[in-house]
Amino acid sequence: MSAHLSLTTALLELPAYLRGIGVTTAEKLAAELGSAIGKVSPAEVTVEDLLLYLPFRYEDRSHLPQVCDLRPGQSASVLVEVSLASSYPIRTRQGKQLTLFEVIGWDSTGRIRACWWNQPYLRQVFQPGRRVVLYGEWEFSSRARCYQVENPDYEVLNDETDDDVPETIHVGRCVPVYRKLGTFRTRALRSLIFRLLQALHDVPDDGLPDELRHGSRELPPLPTKLAALWEVHFPKATEHLESIQARRSLAHARLALEEFFLLTLALANRRRQREQAGEKAGMRVTDAIRERARQTLPFRLTNAQKRVIREIVSDLTGTRPMSRLLQGDVGSGKTVVALQAMIVAVENGWQVALMAPTEILVEQHWRSMTRWLSGTPYRLAALTGRLKPSEKKAIRQALANHEVDIVIGTQALIQNDTAFARLGLVIIDEQHRFGVLQREQLLARGVSPDVLVMTATPIPRSLAMALYGDLDVSVIDELPPGRKPVVTAVRTNERRDRVYDFIRQECAAGRQAYIVYPLVEESEKLDVAAATAAAAQLQQEVFPTLVVGLLHGRMKSEEKDAVMQKFVAGEIHVLVTTTVVEVGIDVPNASVMVIEHPERFGLAQLHQLRGRVGRGAAKSYCVLMAPDGISPEALERLNFFAQTPDGFAIAEKDLAWRGPGEMLGLRQSGLPVFRVGDLIRDADWLTLAREAAWRVWREQPNAPQTQHWLARAQRMFPMAMGGVH
Ligand code: ADP
Ligand code: MG
Repeated sequence: MSAHLSLTTALLELPAYLRGIGVTTAEKLAAELGSAIGKVSPAEVTVEDLLLYLPFRYEDRSHLPQVCDLRPGQSASVLVEVSLASSYPIRTRQGKQLTLFEVIGWDSTGRIRACWWNQPYLRQVFQPGRRVVLYGEWEFSSRARCYQVENPDYEVLNDETDDDVPETIHVGRCVPVYRKLGTFRTRALRSLIFRLLQALHDVPDDGLPDELRHGSRELPPLPTKLAALWEVHFPKATEHLESIQARRSLAHARLALEEFFLLTLALANRRRQREQAGEKAGMRVTDAIRERARQTLPFRLTNAQKRVIREIVSDLTGTRPMSRLLQGDVGSGKTVVALQAMIVAVENGWQVALMAPTEILVEQHWRSMTRWLSGTPYRLAALTGRLKPSEKKAIRQALANHEVDIVIGTQALIQNDTAFARLGLVIIDEQHRFGVLQREQLLARGVSPDVLVMTATPIPRSLAMALYGDLDVSVIDELPPGRKPVVTAVRTNERRDRVYDFIRQECAAGRQAYIVYPLVEESEKLDVAAATAAAAQLQQEVFPTLVVGLLHGRMKSEEKDAVMQKFVAGEIHVLVTTTVVEVGIDVPNASVMVIEHPERFGLAQLHQLRGRVGRGAAKSYCVLMAPDGISPEALERLNFFAQTPDGFAIAEKDLAWRGPGEMLGLRQSGLPVFRVGDLIRDADWLTLAREAAWRVWREQPNAPQTQHWLARAQRMFPMAMGGVH
């Protein structure tokens, strides 16, 4: 154990440093804080972790009026000398027995009274002659004929302190208010944090590179780490209290920058390690390959598609393994881009793995790929959960023997021991459904394969940096020609019949419709029951002359396939479904989507759903059925959505409204957890930190300081660092 308390001291060791902190308290605190910040082992919870537990608000108690200056209803700290302290029993009207503890105190200008209920131990605290500061809301009592306060926050002044500048913790200053941490309330946390800050000396200020600390054109000089920690807990500059409350002070920036810097440095490092894991042989693109690619193309590519294909091919032909994220709004045509990359890889003698998040999507990719590649000698296989064990085994064997060139599958592809003879390209569709770790797991299967990740949800820039900071990014910012925005409307139940009429009309014109029911995780069974009942009712009562189909996540794979096949073939007119159709489904003939209980979905999710229509040439419609009694805020969100066709704009709003974790819809999304930084509020700091991190990484990858930062990042963001090979 070191002699001095430092930021890295374990909370469990606190009893050795601070008087009044027992072993049990330290253990309880470490356990509570650990679970709040996602550290599994309490032994790993440090002093720094506690100091990064920020207050959620502040109270300005800095003003110390004298007794004669008090006004009724005023919240203030008042310094008095205790003259009388007594407790006595009181019986309430209900016959309950309470103890009232009462203090009378004076300053040079007048007398006050303070009282507490049922806290007899306060007698030890408020001994006559002691000087105390009381904080609370003061009222004038005509009975006591003085100002009085009930249950005030209090602090006894240390006799040795200078009379004029008492060093108080809870009163006479701007004080932090914390959310309860297990049994630890604000007052206990405040004392402890104050004492820790006082006990810390020589806190090294090396969490950031100099260029970020000393200021620059974009950035004023920042406070030191220790000064920043003091300021975010016990702000001195109370005139800036608003910016501190909003966590927009320079002190907050100092701490957020450090988090962002460490994370982005870790991501840079992960990228570099992946590249160093092996130079790969660059693929070649010959005229024959170009010709083959042209032949398989079902349509003319958009300029945006051509551009991203060029970016991808340049990675494929390079000697560093590709790590690329392909973003593009729903329906922008990511699949054919993937197809082009696959052709290059297979022609160069490599195997390709294409992964999708659901079996339905795997089936769909399978159908498109077998159709598009029917004129080639490529050997395709689909590996899904639906296969018999013996069939799976056969496919695995074929992969290991290089008897299969392209395999399409779900997570099953990376589970178990799928081995590839010569895996050269991995394409992951609709990435936000896969955790970062899975991405890494798959990488371990091949020799530094090229990796292309395609996302469903357009991701705001700051979020993309935090999630995919180790990837290059390509964006398809153009929709295929002839697409018209999906006409979106919010409708109430009164107009339900007209909505159904409209569906009949569209189906009569040869088109198809989806009716989507929300899926609430906890009651999947109930939802399925609701969707099943709805489908039966719609078939019998509403659309007796049409064919109504049902699709939900609880059906067996074969059943799902059968329904999807029929829908694709136009044999089902109206598909009643849960959110299993959310991602990736492509049936261009479907032109109407009705969404029930749209208020239960996030906007990004609604956008994905809406993306299932408007994929063909026909004008398409999305109707959001607002339930009776919907809240005005929810309605406002739906209206915003209805008026906004752009997925990126929707994603930004969704992120601002719901926060990143909710928006991605997964806790295991691999998103790092920040204590101070916020991806929306501090997006600019993130950009700055990232630039600095990559500069450091390029210029001094092996410096001891860099290695030290990486070690810290490893402790702070185990997810981001996870599974480096
Ligand atoms: P997403 O990017 O959402 O995965 P898809 O790859 O499923 O989109 O493509 C959406 C639809 O647009 C598909 O029906 C696809 O065949 C079609 N498509 C893609 N690119 C073009 C293009 N350049 N011209 C015409 N249709 C296209
Ligand atoms: Mg897709």
